[in-house]
Amino acid sequence: MQATTCPYCGVGCGVAVQSESDAVQVQADAQHPANLGRLCSKGSALAATVSEAGEAARILHPSIDGKQVDWTQATDHIAASIRSAIDEHGVDSVAFYLSGQLLTEDYYVANKLMKGFIGTANVDTNSRLCMSSAVAAYQRAFGADAVPCCYEDLECTDLLVLIGSNAAWTHPVLYQRMVQAKQSNPNLRVVLIDPRRTISNDLADLHLPLKPSSDGILFKGLLRHLIAHDVVDRAFIAGHTDGFAEAERSVASWDIDRVAEHTDLSRDQLTQFYDWFATTPKAISFYSQGINQSATGTDKCNDIINCHLATGRIGQPGAGPFSITGQPNAMGGREVGGLASQLAAHMGFTEPETDRVQRFWNAPTVAKQPGLKAVDLFDAMHRGDIKVVWILATNPAVSLPDSEHVRAALAKCPTVIVSDLTANDTTEYANVLLPALGWGEKDGTVTNSERRISRQRAFRPAPGEAKSDWWSLTQVAQKLGYENQFPYTSAHEVFVEHARLSGFENNGKRAFDISALSTLTGKGYDSLKPVQWPVTHARPKGTARLFTNHQFFTATQRAQFIAAPPHIIAAPDGMFLLNTGRLRDQWHTMTRTGQVASLCGHDELPFVEMHPDDAADQGLSQHQFVQVQNHHGRFIGRLNVVDSVQRGQLFAPIHWTQQFAQSAIINSVVAPVVDAVSGQPQSKAAVVSLQRF
Ligand code: SF4
Repeated sequence: MQATTCPYCGVGCGVAVQSESDAVQVQADAQHPANLGRLCSKGSALAATVSEAGEAARILHPSIDGKQVDWTQATDHIAASIRSAIDEHGVDSVAFYLSGQLLTEDYYVANKLMKGFIGTANVDTNSRLCMSSAVAAYQRAFGADAVPCCYEDLECTDLLVLIGSNAAWTHPVLYQRMVQAKQSNPNLRVVLIDPRRTISNDLADLHLPLKPSSDGILFKGLLRHLIAHDVVDRAFIAGHTDGFAEAERSVASWDIDRVAEHTDLSRDQLTQFYDWFATTPKAISFYSQGINQSATGTDKCNDIINCHLATGRIGQPGAGPFSITGQPNAMGGREVGGLASQLAAHMGFTEPETDRVQRFWNAPTVAKQPGLKAVDLFDAMHRGDIKVVWILATNPAVSLPDSEHVRAALAKCPTVIVSDLTANDTTEYANVLLPALGWGEKDGTVTNSERRISRQRAFRPAPGEAKSDWWSLTQVAQKLGYENQFPYTSAHEVFVEHARLSGFENNGKRAFDISALSTLTGKGYDSLKPVQWPVTHARPKGTARLFTNHQFFTATQRAQFIAAPPHIIAAPDGMFLLNTGRLRDQWHTMTRTGQVASLCGHDELPFVEMHPDDAADQGLSQHQFVQVQNHHGRFIGRLNVVDSVQRGQLFAPIHWTQQFAQSAIINSVVAPVVDAVSGQPQSKAAVVSLQRF
């Protein structure tokens, strides 16, 4: 049995694989601390995704403009295209667009090549769409992108507040752990805060079906309630935080009546939630895309964090603000600096940090300022400013908002390089197509939502000429003249350099520190057990919780309250607010899960959900085909009439692509509205109209 990690969501479950010739069996790894022997429907079906049938669709050879070439020709061509774009248009005409599906080693080499050697920070990732608001809020509050909690906290808390999370479908194994926690702890209460009544409501003692995007107001009201009832921890506030007085002033007007008016919740619902939070010291706020995917997602995350800082509920078992990532390695991307707004290893663009990274990399230059975030990057491409883009392991033609605009941008870009496993909507625009290794074929590490680094291990041979992404990036770096700084011949070599950078001139000042892993031998890397960072010489076995000593990563070591303005969103008369999200059995744009018959049986067609009263008003009935549209584009799907969505709102899954039908991409109608701080798109509240098709 080979121990590896599931490639789907940010829970990061361990799986044990038996592989003999074409027979692959997958089962849960009972030893992995993330899942302790559990798997969800997607993880359980992993064996079917590495079948011969799946391989028939694989990209097996590099090609340029549709003509098969070898790797030397392909990487020569890429290096020449990058060099020519830099010479004619400057370094900012080159961009990389990465993915939370990449392994940390792939991410590290891509980030180093762009920021240290090509010299621009125009390297962003689809993780921008998933959790960049959570990152920005942690940075504002704690001085670092540092998730305080661990999964065990879900089992030793007495109040679990799920905010904008349908964990039962999106993080199923964590949900299973919550179910078990509730069975074994009669004191545990669960609150679900979500405009929709999702399946996760089965676990909830209280559902707050608030108005879309009013979560920030709900938590401003909570902070005011905590202050008014004197349940704040004055000693913690005075000893370990700054900015409380301003935060207190900013919530003073949010009494229960005003919160009720702006959230559409009743006084009784609010009083119940506020009283439970006020009287339960062990409280976890568990939040995900419902909070992050908003034009004010960062502020909302800080509204939540403020309530934990005010009560000192952080750094203790069963208490803290806990953001959950969507993708298997969104966290690994954050560690290496895969977001355009970070430099590397939790360092930013201040002069001491750019200087430090440049010295460590022995780089000729280093990007001195943040690059273009995902939506801005494709906008720049549409304007003609990006001449070369390298897209790895992601399908932006479907997954980014305003997808018709994104496809037009890709069509305009002179050189589009795509590294992937199979053809998809984005590969249609590729001038250079590179065959990448997939799950079960590549070696490296991923980091899950509780900061736990786990190995993904290869157990199958590479199909055709497929290669690791770190390898293809290394080839191009060497052809650009950087052989000495990119000498890698294995994922292990990349990992130990990444670990060394994390500890370089760190001295405990940066949260991300895995310097104790920098001396791993190849054998040690092969047998690496799952471990939570920081992993330092003082903490060689890793760190379950952060901030247990109440010291943060700001210059003063004090946490910062953020006084954010309120935000309200409403659809004009006759229009609807469209919420987008995931289904239980599908993943992203279905390039993998769409191949598995058992995962496709439940929802065969693109659909949109609508409240029965809205359907009756429009004269629509169950399973009619409807068109959802606005000036960005249109989506056609089957109507599901359900009372789990509220009047005036719609819900549609994100998974279907143009390969299914021209009009099946829901992101065609999601406006490219982004959070001003994080750049994360507002994928939960698009203004649309709906008619019979
Ligand atoms: Fe994979 Fe996530 Fe399911 Fe775990 S919960 S098996 S990581 S998809």
